[in-house]
Amino acid sequence: MKASFQNVRGDILRIDNFVRQMSENLTSLSQGQARILDNISELAAFQVELATRIERLEKGSARPVRRTARKTVKRTIKRSSRKQAKFVVSKSTNKLHVSTCPFAKRVKPKNKAMFSSKKKALNEGYKPCDCMKKY
Ligand SMILES: [Zn+2]
Repeated sequence: MKASFQNVRGDILRIDNFVRQMSENLTSLSQGQARILDNISELAAFQVELATRIERLEKGSARPVRRTARKTVKRTIKRSSRKQAKFVVSKSTNKLHVSTCPFAKRVKPKNKAMFSSKKKALNEGYKPCDCMKKY
């Protein structure tokens, strides 16, 4: 009876040790799990950061292309509007200018006449200025 009690006590102690060991293992496991969870959340944060970086890179590479494309469109519009620009003649110098020409801007209002086409102005005897070479 005594021996069996000793055995039981020993078993209990052993179980106690085992439980303690288990709980220690569990603690280190949960610590490991916590570390793994930390790593996972770090990875997730990094993934988000990477995704943001990739998005920025994609936007950064796409934006300049779009901008230049828009600028080209604007330039083409300006060019085509320049073609439609009115022509200015100076009655004092008998010269024909594009309305954007600095000389055209200096023509006094009383000497100024507008033409919608180069031909019409030339037919009236106006001599083209150097600015008219493009037109
Ligand atoms: Zn001119």
